Amino acid sequence: MSRLPVVVACDLDRTLIYSAAALRLEGDDQDAPELLVAEVYGGVPISFLTRASEALLARVDETAHFVPVTTRTVAQYRRVRLPGVRPTHSVTTNGGTLLVDGVPDEAWRRAVDRRVAEACAPLGQVEALLTDQHWAAWTHTVKAAEELFVYAVVDRAEMPEQAVVDLAARCDELGWTVSLQGRKVYCVPRPVTKSAALEEVRLRTGADTVFAAGDSLLDQGMLEAATGAFRPAHGELHDVAFTAANLTVTDADGVMAGEELLRRLGDAVVATAR
Ligand SMILES: [Mg+2]
Repeated sequence: MSRLPVVVACDLDRTLIYSAAALRLEGDDQDAPELLVAEVYGGVPISFLTRASEALLARVDETAHFVPVTTRTVAQYRRVRLPGVRPTHSVTTNGGTLLVDGVPDEAWRRAVDRRVAEACAPLGQVEALLTDQHWAAWTHTVKAAEELFVYAVVDRAEMPEQAVVDLAARCDELGWTVSLQGRKVYCVPRPVTKSAALEEVRLRTGADTVFAAGDSLLDQGMLEAATGAFRPAHGELHDVAFTAANLTVTDADGVMAGEELLRRLGDAVVATAR
């Protein structure tokens, strides 16, 4: 089967691949699904997907334009090994970078930089919010990603919930958005979105239909813009009970939701051919 004019956009972390802490393997260990390693860091396997996901992913990749869409930086993305697929287009850095056959597209990045410069406070001003004395109490590190956005690695137990609310309000005034994912608090300029980069991919591939899957607030825009959207029954969007007319929520959670998402995405692609 040749590829249909369909883009399948899939977030990576906690959507397609899972850290050990995010697997949510309940029940007896002997009944756990077989897992594949999707990422090695410092010589240690740290991200996984189920073995059954491999064939489901291959089906998506054979029938549609499969596009990984992640907030990871390019370097962090390159550690991820998705079995059997070599996407022609990938979106990293939350939409700040578009990889075409693995190479950053310079024209896209220039367009993003221009929009950010027009509409947002400079990165240093937002970084200062995360490195002030107040935040130091629960913050391990603060990192800038490709000079585009910043994130703090925090101790969730120590961090008051109000801190993120206050940060989001302050960032909003500066033209930035905030997303809390696991141990990371992301501050991202408002124009740097997965949905904008995905629309660019859709135009370049000539696709007329987009199916998207994701779990976090940073995925919400691309889920809303998609023809059909899917999210796991866990994560930031699940915690706020995000729903929409075009949205399907998985029955499973954890790594089994990742497998279910691939099955549902593949079924959605095949259904467009009928
Ligand atoms: Mg995610």
